[in-house]
Amino acid sequence: MFLAICETSASLATVLLAKRVIEIIGIVVPIILIIMCAVDLLKQVINPDEKNYSKLTKRIFAASCVFFIPTIVGLLLDLVGTTDFSATRCWTDANASTIEFLSKQEEAEKEAEEKAKADENAEAKRKREEQNRIREEIRKENEEEAQQAGQNGKDGLVIVKDGVFYYPCDSSKNGTAASKGSAPYGYVKPFYDKLVAFTKAAAAAGVSVNMSTTECYEGIKGVCGAWRSRSSQEYAWHCYKTGSCNNGNLAAAPGTSRHGWGIASDLRFGGNYSASVAWAHAHAKDFGLHFPISSENWHVEPINVKCY
Ligand SMILES: [Zn+2]
Repeated sequence: MFLAICETSASLATVLLAKRVIEIIGIVVPIILIIMCAVDLLKQVINPDEKNYSKLTKRIFAASCVFFIPTIVGLLLDLVGTTDFSATRCWTDANASTIEFLSKQEEAEKEAEEKAKADENAEAKRKREEQNRIREEIRKENEEEAQQAGQNGKDGLVIVKDGVFYYPCDSSKNGTAASKGSAPYGYVKPFYDKLVAFTKAAAAAGVSVNMSTTECYEGIKGVCGAWRSRSSQEYAWHCYKTGSCNNGNLAAAPGTSRHGWGIASDLRFGGNYSASVAWAHAHAKDFGLHFPISSENWHVEPINVKCY
């Protein structure tokens, strides 16, 4: 313990101070005593009757003692130094260069300690971030799986399984009440979800792409862009054949249009029309959608559609 105390710059500085004080005492006190002795001697000379010798002798002895204090301390410490205390090392090390060396060493140790601590913190942070990343990945995977599972199932007459839309290859059921999907405007739910994601992304990209919100319920005569009844499809077919209505636009033969299954939508483009059309055609595939009819840049369907 003693040894450890003598190995810090602060304790050595204290010892050094003590050393300096003793040195000063060793010089100043004998000078004072010598002056006092001189005064005594002078008194003796002036007044020989007084007995000042014993006082004088004591003072000379005291002066010598004080003068030799550093030497005596040194000798005592040398004696002690042979024991476990090793106190002499304290005494001899108490000098400016050793103190400077020690304080530099202490500073370096402190710096190294701080650096190690910083490294440890950085490592802990890196580990934490890695864990968060893995957790987020797992969460995303779970979410995707859940979404995929939610997309599977039957809606109207369409069965969706792993991203494929199966519809009955039975034209007699196309456009019947049973062929209507459960989502708004008669869309099949998974297709509707795709349209929502697609149109939202368009808005975020600063263009205007909108799903059709007109459904043609049974008995209506009109061309609707969402789910389409058989009668409506017959009307569209009539317009196409005669060119007398609906601009004579292309129409599928009754019983064949995918509008009749709730898996087609005639988009409406707003804002900057050509930019909106361009964006829709560039990004549809990212949402599992495509434009299968080249002459109808507004007619969108799921990419994977099959008969069952
Ligand atoms: Zn269409």
